[in-house]
Amino acid sequence: MGGRHRVTLIPGDGIGPEVSAAARVVIDAAVSGIEWIERTAGALALSEHGDLLPEETLEAIRESRVAIKGPITTPVGSGFRSINVALRQELDLFAAVRPARSLPGVPTRHGAVDLVVIRENTEDLYRGVEFAAGSPEAEALRDELRRLAGFEIRADAGVTVKPISVAGTRRIVRFAFEYVKANRRRTITVGHKASIMPTSDGLFLRTAREHTGDRGEVDFEDMQIDHMTARLVREPGRFDVLLLPNLYGDILSDLCAGLVGGLGLIPGANIGWEYAVFEPVHGSAPDIAGRGVANPIAMILSGAMMLRHLGELDGAAAVERAVDTVLEAGAVRTPDLGGSSSTMDVAEKIAAALPR
Ligand code: NAD
Repeated sequence: MGGRHRVTLIPGDGIGPEVSAAARVVIDAAVSGIEWIERTAGALALSEHGDLLPEETLEAIRESRVAIKGPITTPVGSGFRSINVALRQELDLFAAVRPARSLPGVPTRHGAVDLVVIRENTEDLYRGVEFAAGSPEAEALRDELRRLAGFEIRADAGVTVKPISVAGTRRIVRFAFEYVKANRRRTITVGHKASIMPTSDGLFLRTAREHTGDRGEVDFEDMQIDHMTARLVREPGRFDVLLLPNLYGDILSDLCAGLVGGLGLIPGANIGWEYAVFEPVHGSAPDIAGRGVANPIAMILSGAMMLRHLGELDGAAAVERAVDTVLEAGAVRTPDLGGSSSTMDVAEKIAAALPR
C-alpha cells in the first residue's frame, strides 16, 4: 500500500516520545514507504540547539510540508507564550481540525457523537495583543480610547485585544466548506456572540454568511455560543461541523473531547494552505510521563488524519477501524480507560488488527 511520503516527526517531551513511538508502529504497519525525518522542539531542542523551536525543525517541516508531533511542555519563563502557538504562527497553520466521535466500548453519557470542531487558529483573543494593568502602554491605550470614542476604562484594568479580520475569517470559512465537501459532511454551525460583540464576532458571522452563496450542498446555520454550549451538552448528536473563532474553538474542542471519553482519544490537525502539522489535543502529561502507560490512541488517530491528508485513504480508514476493533474488544486498554496495558501493548494490538 502507498507511495513514498516524507514526514517530519517531532516526538515532543513528557509522554510525547512514548505515544510517538507507538503511533509510528501503527502507521508503518498500515502504509509502507513513509520516510520519517525526526526533529526536536521544546526542552530537548533547547539543550541540543540552544533554541526551543530550532530553524532546522521549521526547515524540515517546510521541506516535507507535513509533520506529526507529540505534545511539548512550554518551559516557564521561556519568552514564548507557547511553542505550539509559535509553530502555528511561523507556518501560518490557520485552521485547527479536531474530530470527536463516539468510540466503541468507551462508555459516555451520549452515544452517537460524530462531530468536528474547526477552529480559527491565528486571531481573536489569542493574537497576543496584551496591555498589562498599570503599564505605560495600558495608560496610553486608555488615553487613546477616551480621545477616539469616549470609552472610559478603569485605571487598574488589564486589556486583551480581540482582532477578527475579514481576510482571516474568509480563509477559515473557505477551509470549512472545502472540508465539509471533501469529507462528506453536511452541516456547518457557526458559534458566535454577535449580539454583544458585533464588530468582531458579528464580522465573523457576516463573513461566513457571505460565503454561503457558493455553498453547494452544505447546510449552514449559526448559534449564539452560550446556547451552542448547552445544546452540545444536551444533544451533541445534532451537530456535525462546528466553525468557531479561536477562543470558543479552544474551549469547545475540550468539551467535545469530554463528550466522547477524554483527552487520550482525541486527534487533531493544524492546517494552512501550505503546511499541515498533526498532533493529539492532549498535553505532555508530566504526571504519567516515563511510565509507559499513556494512551496512544489520540496520537494514532492523529496519524490516521495525516494519512488521509497524504491521500492514503485506505490506510487512514484501516487505522481507524483497527482502533475501533481493539477498543470494542476491550481487553487491551491503558489505565485512563480502566485497563492495565502499556502504551506499546495498545499500539501492537492495533497494528495486529490491521488488514494483512
Ligand atoms: P495534559 O493534557 O498534559 O494532561 C491533563 C490530564 O490528562 C493529566 O492527568 C494527564 O495524565 C491526562 N492525559 C493527557 N493525555 C493523556 C494520554 N494520552 N493518556 C492518558 N492520560 C492522559 O494537560 P496539562 O497537564 O494541562 O499540560 C501539561 C503540559 O503540556 C503543559 O506544559 C502544557 O503547556 C503542555 N501542552 C502541550 C500541548 C501541545 O503540545 N499541543 C497541548 C496542551 C498542553
